[in-house]
Amino acid sequence: MKQGIHPDYKPTTIRCACGEVIETSSTKSDIRVEICSKCHPFFTGRQKLVDTGGRVDRFKKRYNLDK
Ligand SMILES: [Zn+2]
Repeated sequence: MKQGIHPDYKPTTIRCACGEVIETSSTKSDIRVEICSKCHPFFTGRQKLVDTGGRVDRFKKRYNLDK
């Protein structure tokens, strides 16, 4: 990066909902995120889907496919 053409970057902490704190640099300060590299299922390999949980079950209930 060239100097002088970018906004001021300063040390910043990104706080995740899982409690992880990441040190970085940004023009913003005290960034909060809901998911990070420590708790994202892509990185952990665990199933922790944010918005798809229960959809299949509701579909099955609606059409009585779980009997
Ligand atoms: Zn996290």
